[in-house]
Amino acid sequence: MGVHEHRSLLKDIGVDVERHAKMMEMGLESYKNQFMTQKNRPEAMKYFDWFMSEIQGQRIAEINELRKKKRPSIGAFCIFVPEEIIVGAGGACFGLCGGSPATIADAETELPRNICPLIKSAHGFKLQKTCAYTQSSDFIYGETTCEAKKKTWEILNKHHPVKVMNIPHMKREKDLKLWKEELVEFKEHIESITGEKLSLEEMKKGTKIVNEKREALQRLDRLRSMNKDIIPISGKDGLFVTQMGFLDDPVRYTQKVNELCDELEKRVENKISVFEEDTPRLIVLGTPFAPPNWKLHTAVETSGGAIINEESCIGHRYYKDNVNLDEVTTEDELMQKLLDKYSAVDCACFTPNAPRIDKILKMYKDRQADGVIYYTLSFCHTYNVEAHLVTQALEKEGIACLVIESDYSPEDAGQIKTRVEAFLESINFKKKATSFKKKQN
Ligand code: SF4
Ligand code: SF4
Repeated sequence: MGVHEHRSLLKDIGVDVERHAKMMEMGLESYKNQFMTQKNRPEAMKYFDWFMSEIQGQRIAEINELRKKKRPSIGAFCIFVPEEIIVGAGGACFGLCGGSPATIADAETELPRNICPLIKSAHGFKLQKTCAYTQSSDFIYGETTCEAKKKTWEILNKHHPVKVMNIPHMKREKDLKLWKEELVEFKEHIESITGEKLSLEEMKKGTKIVNEKREALQRLDRLRSMNKDIIPISGKDGLFVTQMGFLDDPVRYTQKVNELCDELEKRVENKISVFEEDTPRLIVLGTPFAPPNWKLHTAVETSGGAIINEESCIGHRYYKDNVNLDEVTTEDELMQKLLDKYSAVDCACFTPNAPRIDKILKMYKDRQADGVIYYTLSFCHTYNVEAHLVTQALEKEGIACLVIESDYSPEDAGQIKTRVEAFLESINFKKKATSFKKKQN
């Protein structure tokens, strides 16, 4: 199959087929070079390789089949989208393209240059009509998490329906009350698409499906990061699998992640690691890695380091909490449980945001990491400013940290690699010095 077999569908949903085909060719080439050349990959990655080849083909066809049945199809750029409600209504919730530099020039015809590349990339995909997910969405879910995003929705709405959810920036009782009302309104908006009332049982079913997806990702996270000497899958593959969780059918995806985890468990038992012993173990903190933003992972893992986990929204922040369905018997109780889960997200848009720092410190210790990279996109003010507080806490604990601010252009790839190499060298030096000291005592 592949994109070419779906040309007429892509044309029907308004995709610029020629431009899209060129972009997909480049994307698949880059995937082959960066992922499929890795040695000793788990067999179960074959499914994810297949999914990549069908990312804008077979999966788009599936989503459009659902749309024919009046099931909702919602695109988002943020993990605050209550996907449990969409899945409960039998629909599809997916992350929209926003990780490529190829659309930025078009976006800059309407947006200022000095805003984050994620927003510009996403906006450009709509202007170019080269993201089949955007073209397949009934509406784009927007939220008020950062200034650039919330103003962009007004402009994006000229080109595609956008439904904005007002996410508060504090977590006081009155803020949470507003957020709960927004969740109820979101559900009503979904009902306006299906033309049907969404029952409590349907929403609970959707929640169970998404809970199971998050549990599979938690399992993958543990296998990637909790065994000191055995890292059974590369950080790049771990990141890619997580990225695909924002696009794939959740039931099929959960099954495939669990199959991958079964294989990784065996690898751990048999002491099969994709990295040499003593490879520095790094955690990446910060802004989300929308595909195909693989720049940092490639730089680290071609320089002698391993990324064992991402404290990011395409990462731990996305799957760390589940919705507790125990004793939920009314819609109001379910909305409260959804709110409990979503308000536990420690996005830097909140003030104060101390739980994020506590989580990072705990994560570092639990995973016996050797260092962290605080990664932000340029002009992402929330994460860039919060870096001060996080790095201060890391310094206090004596944790090695490298701060990298980058965009999607390939221009700084060499410079990032040089800085990563120097960072890894200092970690290796520290490790040797510690082990020497231990031997002497
Ligand atoms: S970092 Fe914040 S705004 Fe961005 S996706 Fe995550 S929760 Fe949403
Ligand atoms: S990366 Fe930062 S600036 Fe960009 S959309 Fe997310 S929160 Fe906003």
